[in-house]
Amino acid sequence: MSDDLPYLELADHHLDLREAVRAIAANKIAPYAADVDANSRFPTEAYDALVASGFHAAHVPEAYGGEGADALATCIIIEEIARVCASSSLIPAVNKLGSLPLILAGSESLNQRYLPPLAAGTSTFSYALSEREAGSDTASMKTRAVLDGDNWVLSGQKSWISNAGISDYYTVLAVTDPDGRRGSNISAFVVEKSDEGFTISAPEKKLGIKGSPTCELNFDAVYLPGDRIIGDPGTGLQLALRTLDHTRITIAAQAIGIAQGALDHALAYVQERQQFGKHIADFQGIQFMLADMAMKLEAARQLVYVAAAKSERDAGDLSFFGAAAKCFASDTAMEITVDAVQLLGGAGYTQDFPLERMMRDAKITQIYEGTNQIQRVVMARQLLGKR
Ligand SMILES: Cc1cc2nc3c(=O)[nH]c(=O)nc-3n(C[C@H](O)[C@H](O)[C@H](O)COP(=O)(O)OP(=O)(O)OC[C@H]3O[C@@H](n4cnc5c(N)ncnc54)[C@H](O)[C@@H]3O)c2cc1C
Repeated sequence: MSDDLPYLELADHHLDLREAVRAIAANKIAPYAADVDANSRFPTEAYDALVASGFHAAHVPEAYGGEGADALATCIIIEEIARVCASSSLIPAVNKLGSLPLILAGSESLNQRYLPPLAAGTSTFSYALSEREAGSDTASMKTRAVLDGDNWVLSGQKSWISNAGISDYYTVLAVTDPDGRRGSNISAFVVEKSDEGFTISAPEKKLGIKGSPTCELNFDAVYLPGDRIIGDPGTGLQLALRTLDHTRITIAAQAIGIAQGALDHALAYVQERQQFGKHIADFQGIQFMLADMAMKLEAARQLVYVAAAKSERDAGDLSFFGAAAKCFASDTAMEITVDAVQLLGGAGYTQDFPLERMMRDAKITQIYEGTNQIQRVVMARQLLGKR
């Protein structure tokens, strides 16, 4: 083979990071994953372990006390955690989602105020775009912020907000110019949990990621000081969508982590389990399933890592790659986790193994940060030069 052909592999510092996160995931997160799921409780053990190692919000720039992890490093962290506990992987993922609007467009004083506590692990950061009647169609949101002197007065509600109640800080999108052009009449704000008039409803009862509370946020004339706005008035939706271009890749990383965890368990099981006088791994029908699972997973991983490199460089085709990575990796994770349950037969359907949890957890990766139908809309728009 010619020496000048490119050979794509992780750099040493990314490999070292993977080893370090893998060890924490195995020793300090995996032992609690089943209990977190069974009791729908926030994974405090994981949170403490991730804060102690700086992996809870590693994307925060060093200037604000963070690790300054690049996009690929953040994906590796999320992937390795998701391999053992998808709920716990939402800690770094939602922290990045909630705080990226500030990193991309926040004023220096806003960033100085909110990013250091996030980096220190004294708070988490949530992201509030969706509303009950405005999920895929985000521009039709009803939450309003009206200027009153120097303050903004925020009224409305947000739905399905990850890690709500745990987080002290929320990036919230609201219409600030009801008569303005659709999509250019929305602004982004930081809302604090302690702001008067802000309440959080009881967590939703969900199929999976049960350790990450998902709640409605209610804003009843919440007064926000004028400097809580992120970027310029009217730029909020563009900022929210630009954020998603970057963070969808972290959901893709979560998906391949869940899929890898399921494949690991399936591989171990088929080499132990015997039927018809031999290990089920000796049946070609089983081998072909394993080969397909590993092949698709590796293809998804390569796409996710390339998309992460695009995110780091803010490449012109990031929208396409972010959507493609999220769509392909989540569909792959769903397929692999369903097949992994199948490979364990009846055992896979019980809670004696984590496969049924992984299958339930994988489903959300096809839905949040835009459903996979919406990812196809995003890809097509870039292909057709419409964005
Ligand atoms: C557990 C969980 C956590 C979440 N976390 C957050 C969070 O932290 N912050 C946040 O802001 N939101 C969050 N969400 C919301 C999530 O992003 C939305 O649920 C998602 O974007 C879909 O919106 P919807 O539920 O209103 O579905 P709808 O928009 O009502 O879609 C219903 C169906 O119609 C399809 N559809 C809609 N429009 C089109 C179209 N143009 N073409 C083809 N098909 C279409 C969809 O793909 C879907 O299959 C979370 C949701 C869940 C369940």
